Amino acid sequence: MENSKKEKLIIIGSGPAGLTAAIYAARGSLSPLVISGREAGGQLMLTTDVDDFPGFEEGIQGPDLMARMRKQAERFGTRFINEDVISVDLKSKPFVIQAESCQLKTDSLIIATGASAMWLGLESEKRLIGKGVSSCAVCDGFFFKNKDVIVVGGGDTAMREVAYLAKLCQKVIVIHRRDSLRAQAALQELVKLKPNVEFIWNTVVEEILGQEKVSGVKLKNTQNGKISQLEVQGVFIAIGHKPNTGFLKGQVDLDEKGYVVVENETYTSVPGVFVAGDVADFHYRQAVTAAGAGCKAVFDAEQYLENLHRR
Ligand code: NAP
Repeated sequence: MENSKKEKLIIIGSGPAGLTAAIYAARGSLSPLVISGREAGGQLMLTTDVDDFPGFEEGIQGPDLMARMRKQAERFGTRFINEDVISVDLKSKPFVIQAESCQLKTDSLIIATGASAMWLGLESEKRLIGKGVSSCAVCDGFFFKNKDVIVVGGGDTAMREVAYLAKLCQKVIVIHRRDSLRAQAALQELVKLKPNVEFIWNTVVEEILGQEKVSGVKLKNTQNGKISQLEVQGVFIAIGHKPNTGFLKGQVDLDEKGYVVVENETYTSVPGVFVAGDVADFHYRQAVTAAGAGCKAVFDAEQYLENLHRR
Protein backbone atom coordinates (compact mmCIF):
# COMPACT_ATOMS: atom_id res chain seq x y z
CA MET A 1 0.00 0.00 0.00
CA GLU A 2 1.40 3.38 -0.92
CA ASN A 3 0.72 6.31 1.33
CA SER A 4 0.89 9.45 -0.86
CA LYS A 5 1.01 11.83 2.11
CA LYS A 6 4.48 13.19 2.80
CA GLU A 7 5.53 13.24 6.45
CA LYS A 8 7.68 15.96 7.99
CA LEU A 9 9.46 13.53 10.28
CA ILE A 10 9.52 9.76 10.58
CA ILE A 11 11.20 8.12 13.57
CA ILE A 12 12.22 4.50 13.21
CA GLY A 13 12.42 2.71 16.56
CA SER A 14 10.51 2.92 19.82
CA GLY A 15 13.05 2.50 22.60
CA PRO A 16 13.95 5.45 24.86
CA ALA A 17 15.68 7.29 21.97
CA GLY A 18 12.80 6.96 19.51
CA LEU A 19 10.05 7.73 22.03
CA THR A 20 11.86 10.74 23.51
CA ALA A 21 12.32 12.02 19.97
CA ALA A 22 8.58 11.49 19.41
CA ILE A 23 7.64 13.44 22.57
CA TYR A 24 9.81 16.41 21.61
CA ALA A 25 8.81 16.33 17.95
CA ALA A 26 5.08 16.10 18.73
CA ARG A 27 5.24 18.97 21.21
CA GLY A 28 7.26 20.93 18.63
CA SER A 29 4.51 20.52 16.00
CA LEU A 30 6.42 18.17 13.73
CA SER A 31 3.55 15.63 13.97
CA PRO A 32 5.94 12.67 13.93
CA LEU A 33 5.14 9.19 12.70
CA VAL A 34 6.93 6.43 14.61
CA ILE A 35 7.55 3.09 12.98
CA SER A 36 7.90 1.18 16.20
CA GLY A 37 9.12 -2.20 15.03
CA ARG A 38 7.34 -5.45 15.79
CA GLU A 39 9.33 -5.79 19.01
CA ALA A 40 8.39 -2.31 20.15
CA GLY A 41 10.06 -0.79 23.20
CA GLY A 42 13.62 -1.96 22.63
CA GLN A 43 15.97 -3.57 25.12
CA LEU A 44 14.12 -2.28 28.19
CA MET A 45 11.35 -4.72 27.36
CA LEU A 46 13.80 -7.43 28.45
CA THR A 47 14.65 -5.74 31.74
CA THR A 48 12.84 -6.11 35.03
CA ASP A 49 13.42 -3.40 37.67
CA VAL A 50 14.89 -0.16 36.35
CA ASP A 51 16.28 1.72 39.34
CA ASP A 52 18.52 4.21 37.57
CA PHE A 53 16.10 6.08 35.31
CA PRO A 54 15.57 9.46 36.97
CA GLY A 55 12.12 10.28 38.26
CA PHE A 56 11.09 6.88 39.64
CA GLU A 57 12.24 6.86 43.24
CA GLU A 58 10.82 3.36 43.81
CA GLY A 59 12.14 2.06 40.47
CA ILE A 60 10.00 0.95 37.56
CA GLN A 61 9.69 -2.19 35.45
CA GLY A 62 11.34 -1.80 32.02
CA PRO A 63 8.14 -2.56 30.04
CA ASP A 64 6.14 -0.13 32.25
CA LEU A 65 8.65 2.63 31.59
CA MET A 66 8.35 2.08 27.86
CA ALA A 67 4.53 2.00 28.03
CA ARG A 68 4.54 5.34 29.87
CA MET A 69 6.91 6.92 27.34
CA ARG A 70 4.68 5.72 24.53
CA LYS A 71 1.54 7.13 26.19
CA GLN A 72 3.35 10.42 26.72
CA ALA A 73 4.24 10.52 23.01
CA GLU A 74 0.62 9.66 22.07
CA ARG A 75 -0.70 12.39 24.34
CA PHE A 76 0.86 14.97 22.03
CA GLY A 77 -0.44 13.31 18.87
CA THR A 78 2.36 10.96 17.82
CA ARG A 79 1.12 8.34 15.38
CA PHE A 80 2.51 4.79 15.42
CA ILE A 81 2.85 2.03 12.87
CA ASN A 82 3.64 -1.23 14.67
CA GLU A 83 5.70 -2.79 11.93
CA ASP A 84 9.33 -3.37 11.02
CA VAL A 85 11.00 -1.29 8.34
CA ILE A 86 12.05 -3.51 5.45
CA SER A 87 14.14 -1.01 3.46
CA VAL A 88 14.78 2.68 2.95
CA ASP A 89 15.70 4.82 -0.03
CA LEU A 90 17.67 7.76 1.34
CA LYS A 91 18.96 8.80 -2.08
CA SER A 92 15.57 10.10 -3.16
CA LYS A 93 14.00 13.29 -1.83
CA PRO A 94 11.69 12.96 0.00
CA PHE A 95 13.11 9.80 1.61
CA VAL A 96 11.16 6.61 0.98
CA ILE A 97 10.55 4.18 3.83
CA GLN A 98 9.21 0.73 3.06
CA ALA A 99 7.45 -0.79 6.06
CA GLU A 100 5.84 -4.24 6.03
CA SER A 101 2.45 -3.13 4.71
CA CYS A 102 3.00 0.39 3.42
CA GLN A 103 5.39 2.77 1.74
CA LEU A 104 5.95 6.17 3.32
CA LYS A 105 7.64 9.41 2.28
CA THR A 106 9.29 11.88 4.60
CA ASP A 107 11.36 15.06 4.53
CA SER A 108 13.44 14.02 7.54
CA LEU A 109 14.23 10.83 9.40
CA ILE A 110 15.50 9.86 12.84
CA ILE A 111 17.03 6.39 13.08
CA ALA A 112 16.63 5.02 16.60
CA THR A 113 16.55 1.28 16.03
CA GLY A 114 18.91 0.44 18.88
CA ALA A 115 21.12 -2.58 19.27
CA SER A 116 20.30 -6.04 20.39
CA ALA A 117 22.40 -8.05 22.80
CA MET A 118 23.71 -11.17 21.18
CA TRP A 119 22.60 -14.36 22.86
CA LEU A 120 24.10 -17.82 22.84
CA GLY A 121 20.99 -19.22 21.19
CA LEU A 122 20.21 -21.94 23.75
CA GLU A 123 16.60 -22.93 24.40
CA SER A 124 17.25 -22.81 28.18
CA GLU A 125 18.69 -19.29 27.82
CA LYS A 126 15.54 -18.03 26.07
CA ARG A 127 13.31 -19.60 28.72
CA LEU A 128 15.24 -18.05 31.64
CA ILE A 129 15.77 -14.48 30.36
CA GLY A 130 14.63 -12.23 33.22
CA LYS A 131 14.69 -15.24 35.59
CA GLY A 132 18.41 -15.22 36.26
CA VAL A 133 19.65 -14.78 32.69
CA SER A 134 20.51 -11.22 31.75
CA SER A 135 22.56 -9.24 29.26
CA CYS A 136 22.89 -6.13 31.43
CA ALA A 137 24.76 -6.06 34.74
CA VAL A 138 23.95 -2.42 35.41
CA CYS A 139 20.23 -3.16 34.96
CA ASP A 140 20.00 -6.48 36.78
CA GLY A 141 23.18 -6.91 38.86
CA PHE A 142 21.49 -5.66 42.01
CA PHE A 143 19.33 -8.81 42.16
CA PHE A 144 22.46 -10.92 42.53
CA LYS A 145 23.86 -9.20 45.58
CA ASN A 146 26.05 -11.67 47.54
CA LYS A 147 25.24 -14.42 45.03
CA ASP A 148 27.41 -16.37 42.59
CA VAL A 149 27.14 -15.52 38.90
CA ILE A 150 28.88 -16.29 35.63
CA VAL A 151 29.71 -13.85 32.86
CA VAL A 152 30.09 -15.34 29.38
CA GLY A 153 32.48 -13.57 27.00
CA GLY A 154 36.02 -12.22 26.87
CA GLY A 155 35.64 -8.75 25.34
CA ASP A 156 35.36 -5.23 26.73
CA THR A 157 31.64 -5.59 27.39
CA ALA A 158 32.17 -8.77 29.38
CA MET A 159 34.97 -7.26 31.48
CA ARG A 160 32.88 -4.15 32.20
CA GLU A 161 30.08 -6.45 33.37
CA VAL A 162 32.55 -8.38 35.53
CA ALA A 163 33.94 -5.20 37.11
CA TYR A 164 30.42 -4.04 37.95
CA LEU A 165 29.21 -7.39 39.29
CA ALA A 166 32.36 -7.96 41.37
CA LYS A 167 31.28 -5.05 43.57
CA LEU A 168 27.95 -6.73 44.34
CA CYS A 169 28.27 -10.46 44.00
CA GLN A 170 29.95 -13.02 46.20
CA LYS A 171 31.72 -14.59 43.27
CA VAL A 172 31.92 -13.76 39.55
CA ILE A 173 33.15 -16.53 37.27
CA VAL A 174 34.13 -15.65 33.70
CA ILE A 175 33.40 -18.39 31.18
CA HIS A 176 35.42 -17.82 28.03
CA ARG A 177 35.63 -20.03 24.96
CA ARG A 178 39.37 -19.40 24.42
CA ASP A 179 42.40 -19.18 26.74
CA SER A 180 42.93 -15.43 26.47
CA LEU A 181 40.74 -12.35 26.66
CA ARG A 182 39.99 -10.00 23.80
CA ALA A 183 39.32 -7.07 26.15
CA GLN A 184 41.67 -4.08 26.36
CA ALA A 185 44.63 -4.56 28.74
CA ALA A 186 43.50 -2.00 31.30
CA LEU A 187 40.13 -3.71 31.74
CA GLN A 188 41.80 -7.12 32.00
CA GLU A 189 44.10 -5.88 34.74
CA LEU A 190 41.22 -4.29 36.59
CA VAL A 191 39.19 -7.50 36.79
CA LYS A 192 42.12 -9.83 37.36
CA LEU A 193 42.96 -7.88 40.52
CA LYS A 194 39.52 -8.53 42.03
CA PRO A 195 39.71 -11.28 44.68
CA ASN A 196 36.20 -12.57 43.95
CA VAL A 197 36.69 -13.01 40.18
CA GLU A 198 37.62 -16.40 38.73
CA PHE A 199 38.20 -17.54 35.15
CA ILE A 200 37.27 -20.79 33.47
CA TRP A 201 39.07 -20.92 30.11
CA ASN A 202 38.39 -22.87 26.93
CA THR A 203 34.84 -23.45 28.01
CA VAL A 204 31.37 -22.88 26.61
CA VAL A 205 27.92 -23.01 28.20
CA GLU A 206 26.00 -26.06 26.98
CA GLU A 207 22.84 -25.46 28.99
CA ILE A 208 21.47 -23.17 31.65
CA LEU A 209 19.89 -25.17 34.44
CA GLY A 210 16.73 -24.39 36.41
CA GLN A 211 12.99 -24.36 35.77
CA GLU A 212 11.56 -21.18 37.30
CA LYS A 213 14.94 -19.54 37.92
CA VAL A 214 18.59 -20.20 37.21
CA SER A 215 20.19 -22.81 39.47
CA GLY A 216 23.39 -23.53 37.57
CA VAL A 217 25.06 -24.16 34.23
CA LYS A 218 26.29 -27.15 32.30
CA LEU A 219 29.72 -26.41 30.79
CA LYS A 220 31.81 -28.05 28.10
CA ASN A 221 35.58 -27.82 27.82
CA THR A 222 36.40 -26.98 24.19
CA GLN A 223 39.80 -28.77 24.39
CA ASN A 224 38.84 -32.17 25.79
CA GLY A 225 35.03 -32.16 25.55
CA LYS A 226 34.68 -32.71 29.30
CA ILE A 227 31.25 -31.77 30.68
CA SER A 228 30.90 -30.22 34.13
CA GLN A 229 28.27 -28.41 36.18
CA LEU A 230 28.49 -25.24 38.20
CA GLU A 231 25.99 -23.98 40.75
CA VAL A 232 25.23 -20.28 40.17
CA GLN A 233 22.21 -18.02 40.57
CA GLY A 234 22.90 -15.63 37.72
CA VAL A 235 24.08 -15.87 34.10
CA PHE A 236 25.22 -12.72 32.30
CA ILE A 237 25.70 -13.07 28.57
CA ALA A 238 28.19 -10.48 27.28
CA ILE A 239 29.23 -11.69 23.86
CA GLY A 240 28.60 -8.40 22.11
CA HIS A 241 25.78 -6.27 20.74
CA LYS A 242 24.54 -6.04 17.22
CA PRO A 243 23.21 -2.70 15.99
CA ASN A 244 19.88 -3.04 14.21
CA THR A 245 21.00 -1.57 10.90
CA GLY A 246 20.50 -4.40 8.39
CA PHE A 247 17.93 -2.31 6.49
CA LEU A 248 20.36 0.64 6.17
CA LYS A 249 23.20 -1.02 4.26
CA GLY A 250 24.30 1.07 1.29
CA GLN A 251 22.04 3.97 2.33
CA VAL A 252 23.96 5.66 5.14
CA ASP A 253 27.55 5.26 6.36
CA LEU A 254 27.99 2.40 8.83
CA ASP A 255 31.21 1.47 10.63
CA GLU A 256 32.84 -1.95 10.35
CA LYS A 257 30.62 -3.30 13.15
CA GLY A 258 27.45 -1.95 11.54
CA TYR A 259 26.88 1.05 13.85
CA VAL A 260 25.64 4.24 12.14
CA VAL A 261 28.56 6.65 11.78
CA VAL A 262 27.59 9.77 13.69
CA GLU A 263 29.10 13.25 13.55
CA ASN A 264 28.38 16.26 15.66
CA GLU A 265 26.02 14.41 18.06
CA THR A 266 23.20 13.27 15.72
CA TYR A 267 24.19 13.89 12.08
CA THR A 268 24.66 10.99 9.67
CA SER A 269 26.29 10.93 6.23
CA VAL A 270 22.91 11.84 4.68
CA PRO A 271 21.59 15.39 5.25
CA GLY A 272 18.13 15.16 6.78
CA VAL A 273 18.80 11.77 8.37
CA PHE A 274 19.63 11.88 12.08
CA VAL A 275 20.50 9.15 14.54
CA ALA A 276 19.96 8.61 18.26
CA GLY A 277 20.68 5.95 20.85
CA ASP A 278 22.41 2.60 20.82
CA VAL A 279 22.28 2.22 17.04
CA ALA A 280 25.16 4.73 16.96
CA ASP A 281 26.54 4.30 20.48
CA PHE A 282 28.31 1.22 21.77
CA HIS A 283 29.88 3.07 24.67
CA TYR A 284 27.23 4.48 27.05
CA ARG A 285 24.24 2.35 26.08
CA GLN A 286 21.92 3.61 28.84
CA ALA A 287 18.22 4.41 28.59
CA VAL A 288 18.88 7.92 29.82
CA THR A 289 21.69 8.64 27.35
CA ALA A 290 19.56 7.27 24.50
CA ALA A 291 16.67 9.47 25.60
CA GLY A 292 18.98 12.50 25.63
CA ALA A 293 20.18 11.68 22.14
CA GLY A 294 16.56 11.41 20.94
CA CYS A 295 15.91 14.92 22.16
CA LYS A 296 19.02 16.26 20.42
CA ALA A 297 18.08 14.56 17.15
CA VAL A 298 14.74 16.41 17.11
CA PHE A 299 16.43 19.78 17.61
CA ASP A 300 18.72 19.00 14.67
CA ALA A 301 15.88 17.68 12.50
CA GLU A 302 13.82 20.80 13.26
CA GLN A 303 16.70 23.01 12.15
CA TYR A 304 17.11 20.98 8.98
CA LEU A 305 13.39 21.25 8.16
CA GLU A 306 13.40 25.01 8.74
CA ASN A 307 16.28 25.42 6.30
CA LEU A 308 14.63 23.08 3.80
CA HIS A 309 11.39 25.02 3.76
CA ARG A 310 13.16 28.39 3.65
CA ARG A 311 14.79 27.45 0.34
P1 NAP B 1 33.54 -8.22 21.27
O1 NAP B 1 34.76 -7.39 21.42
O2 NAP B 1 33.14 -8.70 19.92
O3 NAP B 1 33.71 -9.47 22.26
C1 NAP B 1 32.76 -10.50 22.29
C2 NAP B 1 33.31 -11.60 23.19
O4 NAP B 1 32.34 -12.62 23.27
C3 NAP B 1 34.59 -12.22 22.65
O5 NAP B 1 35.46 -12.53 23.70
C4 NAP B 1 34.09 -13.48 21.96
O6 NAP B 1 35.02 -14.55 22.01
C5 NAP B 1 32.90 -13.84 22.80
N1 NAP B 1 31.89 -14.52 22.02
C6 NAP B 1 31.30 -14.10 20.87
N2 NAP B 1 30.37 -14.99 20.46
C7 NAP B 1 30.37 -15.98 21.38
C8 NAP B 1 29.64 -17.19 21.52
N3 NAP B 1 28.68 -17.53 20.65
N4 NAP B 1 29.89 -17.99 22.57
C9 NAP B 1 30.83 -17.65 23.49
N5 NAP B 1 31.57 -16.52 23.43
C10 NAP B 1 31.34 -15.70 22.37
O7 NAP B 1 32.22 -7.46 21.82
P2 NAP B 1 32.10 -6.40 22.99
O8 NAP B 1 32.90 -6.81 24.15
O9 NAP B 1 30.65 -6.13 23.19
O10 NAP B 1 32.73 -5.09 22.36
C11 NAP B 1 32.18 -4.57 21.14
C12 NAP B 1 32.89 -3.28 20.79
O11 NAP B 1 32.52 -2.29 21.74
C13 NAP B 1 34.41 -3.41 20.85
O12 NAP B 1 34.96 -2.63 19.84
C14 NAP B 1 34.74 -2.87 22.21
O13 NAP B 1 36.05 -2.34 22.29
C15 NAP B 1 33.68 -1.79 22.37
N6 NAP B 1 33.39 -1.57 23.79
C16 NAP B 1 34.17 -0.71 24.48
C17 NAP B 1 33.96 -0.53 25.82
C18 NAP B 1 34.82 0.40 26.57
O14 NAP B 1 34.72 0.42 27.78
N7 NAP B 1 35.65 1.17 25.91
C19 NAP B 1 32.97 -1.23 26.50
C20 NAP B 1 32.19 -2.11 25.79
C21 NAP B 1 32.42 -2.28 24.43
P3 NAP B 1 36.41 -14.51 21.18
O15 NAP B 1 37.29 -13.60 21.98
O16 NAP B 1 36.83 -15.92 21.19
O17 NAP B 1 36.02 -13.98 19.84
